[in-house]
Amino acid sequence: MNMNQTVKKGEVIFFEGEPGNCAYIIESGSVELSILVDGEQKKISQIQAGALFGEMALIGNHLRTATAIAVEHTELIVIPEKYVAEKLENSDKFVALLLKILLQRYLSMRTRLDDVMAKAKTDANLLVSESALPECSRDTVVAALQLEAEHNLKHALETGQLELFYQPIIALDTLQVVGCESLIRWRHPQRGLVPPVEFIGLAEESGLIIPIGHWIIQEAIQACQRFRHKSSHFAFVSINLSGKQFIPGDLVDYIQGIFQQEQIDPKHIKFEITESILMANPLDAAASLEALQAMGSTIAIDDFGTGYSSLSYLHRFPIDTLKIDKSFVSTMLENAKSHEIVKSLCILAKALVMSIVAEGIEKVEEHQRMRKMGVNYGQGYFYAKPMPESEFCEYLLKYQSQAVVDVAK
Ligand code: C2E
Ligand code: CA
Ligand code: CA
Repeated sequence: MNMNQTVKKGEVIFFEGEPGNCAYIIESGSVELSILVDGEQKKISQIQAGALFGEMALIGNHLRTATAIAVEHTELIVIPEKYVAEKLENSDKFVALLLKILLQRYLSMRTRLDDVMAKAKTDANLLVSESALPECSRDTVVAALQLEAEHNLKHALETGQLELFYQPIIALDTLQVVGCESLIRWRHPQRGLVPPVEFIGLAEESGLIIPIGHWIIQEAIQACQRFRHKSSHFAFVSINLSGKQFIPGDLVDYIQGIFQQEQIDPKHIKFEITESILMANPLDAAASLEALQAMGSTIAIDDFGTGYSSLSYLHRFPIDTLKIDKSFVSTMLENAKSHEIVKSLCILAKALVMSIVAEGIEKVEEHQRMRKMGVNYGQGYFYAKPMPESEFCEYLLKYQSQAVVDVAK
């Protein structure tokens, strides 16, 4: 793109009232700016090398507010509106928004100033009050809040405010702790412990889920090594994956790198994904999951039965475990249909040689019912809530040689 323009002495660069689509910086020479007042062309300024003019065009479809004429042979750098818009689009979102707000403010100030100048001719005592300036639009405020939240979340990752909690997973035959699910928390300096539902969505929308996801994977794999040193029964840590993390060439390579770095057998890591991830991006998901399974890790379908419930993917994807959603577990005692669904899922899993985890077990009766049905693993508040690593280590030590639940149950 040619961004230079040469103008001869006396040549008009633009006329007042014309639509403009670029701004200029004077590289050498000088330019006179003038406006039409009562039918007469009045000079308002003469600007030199280094000065920016015509910048109102960058704010969008704004008519030229003055006429610009070269006083001498002048070299200009042209800044097209489109060029600035593209730059803004690709720049840091926060800087872009800030600039947009500043440009809008500048525009409204200029408009008001023009009004004031016009009125000043008749009323010398006119005052401009700040509150008279137009408010930021609602969209701008929402965008600014979103950016602030993103900035805070990024800061949380960088300053160690994110933390993994661990919830035990119990083998229902031996009643021993054989694994755990890692669940993220944000230890916010003002708000306290923030649950994932309040920030995972933001992380996904903003793309922060990639660095946060990497951090989760590394942290959970390292913790798995520590847990395995604490208890000989401990077999796996489950890691939740978001759909946005399935970037070909990123996820699998990253995980493989951590496995090597930590010298861990990949079979000790289970990856949990939801049905919606498989449906949204079946090809990338299948390739990544197959690669993870080929390394030796296992794959669980989370919240099973709540999503698309299309059973066709069960043999299309490499799935080792079904996690029955807590909505079935919590209604199974009173609701015969839920009970039948859980029973059918057990038969299905057995036929497909998959293991089953029942989530959200809160009552002893639910635990007993699951055991009777032959569900392999249980997870829920009945056994323990998710807890920080230090507490989970104590829990592991306590139940190392003891059943988590009274064996009679
Ligand atoms: P999820 O993967 O289905 O995780 C299970 C959720 O159920 C957890 O909520 C857990 O604390 C809760 N839970 C466990 N047992 C019981 C119970 O007996 N009763 C009840 N009512 N709830 C129980 P949490 O930790 O708030 O996580 C919510 C969701 O946030 C998770 O659902 C998962 O989708 C997402 N999430 C959590 N950690 C991560 C993570 O590290 N990465 C990603 N991508 N998502 C995560
Ligand atoms: Ca999960
Ligand atoms: Ca779940």
